[in-house]
Amino acid sequence: MEKKLRFNSKTIHGGQQHDPAYGAVMPPIYQTSTYAQTTPGGHKGFEYSRTHNPTRQALEKSLASIENGTHGLAFGSGLAAIDAVLKLLQPGDEVISTNDLYGGSYRLFTKIFEGFGIKFHFVGMDHVQSVEDAINSNTKLIWVETPTNPMMNVVDIKAVSAIAKKHTILLAVDNTFASPYLQQPLDLGADIVMHSATKYIGGHSDVVLGALIVNDDDLAERLYFIQNASGAVCGPMDSFLTLRGIKTLHVRMQRHSENGRKVAEYLNNHPKIEKVFWPGFESHPNHHIAKAQMKDFGGMLSFIPKGADFKAAIKIIESLKVFTLAESLGGVESLAGHPASMTHASIPKEEREKSGVVDSLIRLSVGIEDAQDLIDDLEQAIG
Ligand SMILES: *Cc1c(COP(=O)(O)O)cnc(C)c1O
Repeated sequence: MEKKLRFNSKTIHGGQQHDPAYGAVMPPIYQTSTYAQTTPGGHKGFEYSRTHNPTRQALEKSLASIENGTHGLAFGSGLAAIDAVLKLLQPGDEVISTNDLYGGSYRLFTKIFEGFGIKFHFVGMDHVQSVEDAINSNTKLIWVETPTNPMMNVVDIKAVSAIAKKHTILLAVDNTFASPYLQQPLDLGADIVMHSATKYIGGHSDVVLGALIVNDDDLAERLYFIQNASGAVCGPMDSFLTLRGIKTLHVRMQRHSENGRKVAEYLNNHPKIEKVFWPGFESHPNHHIAKAQMKDFGGMLSFIPKGADFKAAIKIIESLKVFTLAESLGGVESLAGHPASMTHASIPKEEREKSGVVDSLIRLSVGIEDAQDLIDDLEQAIG
């Protein structure tokens, strides 16, 4: 039955069964570190909660289902999930990644894994040729983010996957911004899908959690080994909250996308706004790719007010009343952020500006409030 379910049904039922003990419709929060054995090794499939936990397992099956994968793995954060992928590599290996990468990923790559002898190349992946140009015999992993944060560049996953396959290189896609509702990278040829479930998948700004989904048994086994050996797992309560979030993912994403469109169009028509970055505009350089690989365009966008400097941008952000000034994204509530001083502060100014993250750039995570209240709020703040 599972295979036949459509996406909206999978968010609710995918990989799930009612609790065998009492028929609980939601998986119970198995807040336990260990499990009774009748004789050494005589257990019901669960020995120790770093290795397996029934609540985490329910979440992992749900994650696999909504990304059209065969295996899901849940971690204590999105970065812990990325960390596990990089532990597939050896010193001397090389990675090709987008140049406007999420700041935390950039920090993990350059400040931790470069020290272990792994080399990273950051290229503008909106032209896929730049990926092929950076490949050499040591290249073992291509790391894609699309749409990118915060410039909303779109990378052609299918085209990058063709290059990765030709050179037998693993392709991982950070699907955090799109969510599995909008985009399913495994279907487009990726080997690994990664999520900061902290964002759209959890959806309520109440949990920090990461995920990997794959559809290859050997790769899954290697990642499960790393998950258990390194131990960056999520707890049962966080697994439960994330599962609850997934059940409304499709409904939330629909509204995020509707509101995102309204806010993007409002800003685009505003005389005091210089530029709006949103993949739904036909003028977006890779709009045709976004249209082909995404179901809709989501609730993330960035913009630059006309003639604004650092101070003017901060003033707008601080004047917002419905949007909350905060890190993060993807929750039901609208958030506004200043990438240059917040999410991307760990990237040197020169590097940042090369990829377009100027001091006047403002990023919005458009929530699911009434769109008109969001527009009214922007109107009073922009003035
Ligand atoms: C937030 C985020 C991460 C990191 O996830 P955490 O859950 O905060 O560790 C990685 N990639 C993207 C695109 C993100 O937005």
